[in-house]
Amino acid sequence: MANENCLAGIRCPHCDNEKEFEITVEAYARVVDEGVHDLTSENDWDDDSRIMCMACRARGTVGEFSTMPSADVLRSRHGVWGEHPDYPADDWRYEVGNDDTRQGYWEWVASSIERDMAQE
Ligand SMILES: [Zn+2]
Repeated sequence: MANENCLAGIRCPHCDNEKEFEITVEAYARVVDEGVHDLTSENDWDDDSRIMCMACRARGTVGEFSTMPSADVLRSRHGVWGEHPDYPADDWRYEVGNDDTRQGYWEWVASSIERDMAQE
């Protein structure tokens, strides 16, 4: 079953595990000379955070493990002049030609993926 909470959209691209990962989080510690006073619960990660699959030990970034990647992640995965296999640039050009979208190609792919995931 797909994750709906913390790990929504996160899946190991190597073994399809969705259950358990190790993610590098940023946390804030209140520190005095005597030691750590308080570790705040404000910890978070983003697309650039390191992640490891607990099933196959594959490592990467959260963005690389995301099934709903941002335009920036898509751009770095496929290259600025690359193309997503499921969302051909010709389809995007057609929509641009009809003035159905004014998004750039990778922004259009990211929002198309999001739209198609929501419909599943
Ligand atoms: Zn894995």
